[in-house]
Amino acid sequence: MDLTYTEEEEAFRARLREWLAEVLPKLPPKPAAADWPGRRAYDAAWQRMLYDAGYAGLHWPVDAGGQGATPTQHLIYLEETEKAGAPYVGANFVGLLHAGPTIAAEGSAAQRARWLPPILRGDEIWCQGFSEPDAGSDLASLRTRAERDGDDYVVSGSKIWTSHAEVADWCELLVRTDPDAPRHRGISWLAMPMDAPGVTVRPLRTLAGSAEFAEVFLDEVRVPAAYRVGAEHDGWRVTMVTLSFERGTAFVGEVVACRRVLGELARKARANGRWDDAVLRRRLGGLHAEFAALWRLTQWNVSEAQHVGGVPGAGGSVFKLRYSHARQELYDAAAEVLGAASLDAEREWVADRLSALSYTIAAGTSQIQRNIVAERILGLPKGR
Ligand SMILES: Cc1cc2nc3c(=O)[nH]c(=O)nc-3n(C[C@H](O)[C@H](O)[C@H](O)COP(=O)(O)OP(=O)(O)OC[C@H]3O[C@@H](n4cnc5c(N)ncnc54)[C@H](O)[C@@H]3O)c2cc1C
Repeated sequence: MDLTYTEEEEAFRARLREWLAEVLPKLPPKPAAADWPGRRAYDAAWQRMLYDAGYAGLHWPVDAGGQGATPTQHLIYLEETEKAGAPYVGANFVGLLHAGPTIAAEGSAAQRARWLPPILRGDEIWCQGFSEPDAGSDLASLRTRAERDGDDYVVSGSKIWTSHAEVADWCELLVRTDPDAPRHRGISWLAMPMDAPGVTVRPLRTLAGSAEFAEVFLDEVRVPAAYRVGAEHDGWRVTMVTLSFERGTAFVGEVVACRRVLGELARKARANGRWDDAVLRRRLGGLHAEFAALWRLTQWNVSEAQHVGGVPGAGGSVFKLRYSHARQELYDAAAEVLGAASLDAEREWVADRLSALSYTIAAGTSQIQRNIVAERILGLPKGR
C-alpha cells in the first residue's frame, strides 16, 4: 500500500476543503442530543448536501450509485470532513455504513435501484434488527420467525437495542425462515418497512439519558418476499457481509475525530495547568501513538477491503477491538484533564464518556472480537 498522496489526490483534497469552507458556515444549529426527529432532519439535510455536491457514497461502486473513488480519496474525505468539523453520518449510520454496502454487495439490480439512491440522498433512514433478548453474541440463536404466505413473509418476534428505530424508514432484519434447519442455515436477511402494520417501537433510555435505541415488537408483519436480500435461508452468510462492514470500516471516520479530541485535550491541559503533570503528559502521548497506529490500521483495512471485492476481512475485528478500548481510555483521560468540569451534565464530554462505554459491546463485544481474532487470524482451535 502506498501511503503518499498523488497530485490528483491533493487536488481532490483542495477541492473538498474549499467546498467545506463554503458550506459549513451555512449549516443550521445542531439539534439537542435527545431530539431524534430533529437529529434525523439535520443528518438527512447534510447527507443531501453531500449528494448534491457529488460526495455521497464516495467509495461506493459507480453501479451502486457511488462515485467509485479510490480508498485513498475516501480516507482524505474522512480526514478533511472531520478536521473541518463537518457533521458525522449520525442517523444515516446503518444505511450508509452497513445496510447500504450489504445491498450493494448482495442485492439484486432491482433492490440496488430501489434502496441505494434514497440512502445516498439522505431520504431514507435504516436501522438494524439483529439482536434479540436471547440472541446477542450468539446471534445465530435468533428466534424471530418468518413464515412464507404467498408472495409475503409473515414475521413475528421481537428485537432489542435497535439503534435509531424511532426515526427509521427501513430495518435490516434477521429472521428464521427454516426452524428445522441447523441454526446457521435457516436464517434470512429482509428489508422491512418500519411503517408496516404490526411493527411497534418502544424506546429504551441509555444511562446518558438519550433514547437512541429501542425494543421492536413484530406481530404478524407482512414483508414481501421480494424484499429478501440473498437467497432464502442464506441470511447468515449475508449477515457476515453486514458485520464485516460494521466492524471493518463503519468506525473509521471516528478515529480522525478521536485524534482531534486528543489535540483539544492537550490544549486544555496547557491552559488549565494540568500539562505540568508528567504522568498525564505520558498518558496523552501514549494515546497519541495509539490513535496514530489505529489510523494506519484503518488505511490498511480500507485498502485491503478494496482489493478483495469491497468486503472488509477479519482484520476489522482487530481494529474494532483496539479502537473501542482506546476510545474509553481517551474519555477517561479527558475526565482527568478537565477535572470537575467534565461532570457538568451540559457538556458533550459527559455524554461522550458515557457512550464510550457502549463501544466494547455494540457491533459485537470485545470477547467476541477476541474469539474471531483467535480463530480466523491466529488459527487457534474453536472454543467449546
Ligand atoms: C450502543 C449499542 C447499540 C446497539 N445497536 C444495535 C442495533 O442497532 N441493532 C442490533 O441488532 N443490536 C444492537 N446492539 C446490540 C449488540 O449487538 C449486543 O449488545 C451485543 O452483540 C452483545 O449481545 P448481548 O447484549 O445480548 O450480550 P450477551 O451476548 O448476553 O453477552 C454477555 C457477556 O457474555 C460475553 N460472551 C457471550 N458469549 C461469549 C463467548 N462465546 N465467549 C466469550 N464471552 C462471551 C459477552 O462478551 C458479554 O460480556 C447495540 C448495542 C449497544 C451497546
